[in-house]
Amino acid sequence: MSLLSVKNITMAFGSVTAVDDVSFELHAGQLLALLGPNGAGKSTCFNVINGQLRPARGSVRFDGHEIAGIRPRDIWRLGVGRTFQVSATFGSMTVLENVQMALLSFGKRLFRFWAPAAGFYRREALALLERVGMAGEAGRLCGTLSYGDVKRVELAMALANRPKLLLMDEPTAGMAPAERHAMMAMTKRLVREDGLAVLFTEHSMDIVFEFADRMIVLARGKLIAEGDSATIRNDEAVRAAYFGR
Ligand code: ADP
Ligand code: MG
Repeated sequence: MSLLSVKNITMAFGSVTAVDDVSFELHAGQLLALLGPNGAGKSTCFNVINGQLRPARGSVRFDGHEIAGIRPRDIWRLGVGRTFQVSATFGSMTVLENVQMALLSFGKRLFRFWAPAAGFYRREALALLERVGMAGEAGRLCGTLSYGDVKRVELAMALANRPKLLLMDEPTAGMAPAERHAMMAMTKRLVREDGLAVLFTEHSMDIVFEFADRMIVLARGKLIAEGDSATIRNDEAVRAAYFGR
């Protein structure tokens, strides 16, 4: 059984059909790439899944629940995490505090003061930072980190919610090539170790071919191809849409 099942979703903005009758499946423990040129409908697809947008038609089933059109917060509570393109960290707080905050906002325990809350989540926050290779930077202010390191902290914050599915819209945008590879290798490790499912968008074909288990390709809102890297590499429709040849 698939963890995420998207069926025939359609989303229009005025006369623009941003996502047109798109269907795909994603299983636990898989890294699925959503590819396509600018304006293809990738972000719109994400926003339908995370609840920011209500599709005109279609269904989104996640872990046994129909989630199309329900509130983003409820989708998040069911276990759909996301990272943001614009930074979600507080620059004037330490790396550790940012992750403690994320744990606090997810946790069911209520605290009246920060110090006991921070103490309660300290160990768990450090464990999350360990997973993204940032435990050594726990005491640094987020505002002093490199762009790639901020992205790692954001990943730790997204994991604080213990998601079953993580949506990453252009996780490596703005990174240098070495950083992009490190980020994707780490994401793949999380997928393998935790059985996490990841859906991510990415411009760079070489990153996708190297790291994704499967990929789907959108062009002008339509799903035009689906498969592994060998299939996508040799697909005529993909070449035409993506490379313009
Ligand atoms: P991608 O992420 O693949 O670059 P988007 O999903 O952002 O593509 O956009 C798909 C299409 O929908 C584009 O033509 C874009 O201009 C349009 N679009 C996206 N969001 C909106 C919106 N909020 N209002 C109007 N048009 C939008
Ligand atoms: Mg986009």
